[in-house]
This record gives sequence, structure tokens and C-alpha cells, in this order.
Amino acid sequence: MEIRRVLVVGTGTLGSQIGFQCALHGFETVMYDVDEGALERCEAAHQKIGRAVRADLGTPGEAIAAAHVRLSYTTDLAGAAAEADLVSESVPEDPGLKRKVFAQLGEPCPSRTIFTTNSSTLLLSDMAEASGRPERFLALHFANQIWVNNVAEIMRHPGTDPEVFEQVVRFAREIGMVPIRLEKEQNGYVLNTLLVPLLGAALSLVVNGVASHEDVDRTWMIAMKVPMGPFGTLDLVGLQTAHDITAYWASRSGDEQSRRNAAFLKEHYVDRGRLGVATGEGFYTYPDPAFRRPGFLD
Ligand code: NAD
Repeated sequence: MEIRRVLVVGTGTLGSQIGFQCALHGFETVMYDVDEGALERCEAAHQKIGRAVRADLGTPGEAIAAAHVRLSYTTDLAGAAAEADLVSESVPEDPGLKRKVFAQLGEPCPSRTIFTTNSSTLLLSDMAEASGRPERFLALHFANQIWVNNVAEIMRHPGTDPEVFEQVVRFAREIGMVPIRLEKEQNGYVLNTLLVPLLGAALSLVVNGVASHEDVDRTWMIAMKVPMGPFGTLDLVGLQTAHDITAYWASRSGDEQSRRNAAFLKEHYVDRGRLGVATGEGFYTYPDPAFRRPGFLD
């Protein structure tokens, strides 16, 4: 089976980016949301993403215009689902909601339709049965600003049909992603399995008074030859999200250091509205953070 038509379910931050990426690479793409207002915001976001893709990648204007033509927007699930070859789900990170959404998709979607989730933290096994087609259910996970951060993590659960897995790997390449294969379920895929402990260790160094956040970043930037350290990265992720993840795992594991890290983020950043790049202030101030200024690494 060839994938030609994509249905994006949930048209917020990531869904809108995924939809544009699919349309840009030649796929007829239907954007579906329960909220009319979200669809209007998605259309506006697509105009902005089109301009960003052009500026960042030098994509010709005709290709951007053709992408807009391949996109449609609807709150009618039955109509949206009828021709879908692949579903990309990006509703909020709530397991109950995701299970409900996949269960609803079962009837209007043809039996050939592949169901993928963009969930950042949930395990497939918790949703596979609800999807009604566990053999055609897997994760296709993107990173924010997908046209430039073009890694797609494709993860299977024990019941995923290997041929469906390979098809989604090929699809990821067709939409301009570098596919990363996860043959087993893993919380956080590859990227967050590496990143979350790194950011936690960086926070511990500062919370325990070992080193300043600037010196932690300097060390990492010089030694690893990267443009940003852990605290620049925390600002980019957003300190509310960083706090929520740290607090959640502290409560699950009972780890005292994680609890102190979460409390530090809350007291000094979240409660003061210093949420990182999004609010213009976090560990650094934006749009001109100190770590990008000449001399920071001297
Ligand atoms: P968001 O809140 O920006 O968008 C969610 C959208 O889903 C909203 O438009 C909402 O109206 C819609 N929605 C809610 N219930 C729905 C339903 N029953 N049917 C259809 N649409 C419904 O969320 P987001 O940041 O785009 O995150 C969505 C998913 O993507 C989450 O699973 C998240 O973990 C994952 N993700 C997010 C990022 C990120 O950086 N934001 C990165 C990778 C993965």
C-alpha cells in the first residue's frame, strides 16, 4: 500500500508543523481538530511556517504555495478519515484522551489506515488495544520546528507489524526526516533518554552550589563543540515543562535530588514568570543570550 493521504489529528503546536511538512513533500493532508478556533490558529500558523521554511531552507515560493493547496481543515471526523492512509495524532499528552481519540478513529478510517502517535512520553502498549488495530499502530515522533530539527523517531510495540514499521520509516524519509528506528518501546525515545538525565545532572550541579549555570554551559559547549549548553537548552524547552517533568519523575521515583531540582525551578523561575525563551527570560535573557555573545567561551 502506498501512503498518499495523511490525516493530522490535533492541530496545535506540533500537529500544525507535521501537517505542513507532509503537504510540502507532496502529500494531500487533512488537518482535523475538535476546536474551530484551533483550526483557525493552525491556518495562521501554516502561513508563518511557510515563511520560516522559506527563510531557513531557501525553499522556493512555488513549493510553499503548492503545500498550502494540498492542505485542508475540518472538524468533520468522518469526512476527514474516509480516505486517510496514515494518521498522525498530536492531541494533548493525556493517555485517556489519546485512547479515546484512537478508538473514535477506528470506524471512519479504512482498514488500511496506519495509526501513528506523536506522544512524547507515553508508552504504545498503554494505547495499542484502544486503537483497535495494534498491528498498524506505532509512534512517529517529531521534534519542535520539524523543518529544521528533522529527526523522526519511529518506535514499535511488540504487536506492530514489521512491514508497517518499515513503511513508516520510508514515509518519514519521504517527508524530509532522518528516520531513527526504535525496535523496542522506550520512554523518551532516543533523544529524551539522553537529554533528560543530562539536563537533570546540570541542574544538580547548580542547585548543589557546585558551579554556576554559565560555567556548566561553558564546559559543555567547549568540550563537546556545540552551540548551546544544558541551561540554554532548558530555556529553549521551557522552564515550566522542565519543572513539570522533573517534579513528575521526583514523585514517581522518590529521588530527593530531583525533588530539590524541581523546587529550585519553581521558586526561582516558574513562580516568577521566567519561563525561558518563550517569555524572554530564564537562565539567560533573550533575544540576545549571553552564551551567544563573543567572549562567552573565553
Ligand atoms: P497543543 O496543545 O499545542 O495541541 C493539541 C491540539 O489537540 C489542540 O489544537 C486541541 O484542540 C486538539 N485536540 C484536543 N482534543 C482533541 C480531540 N479529541 N480530537 C482532535 N483534536 C483534539 O499540543 P502540542 O504541543 O502540539 O502536543 C501534542 C502532542 O505532541 C503531545 O502528545 C506532545 O507530547 C507531542 N509533542 C509535542 C512537542 C512540543 O514541542 N510541543 C514535541 C514533540 C511531541
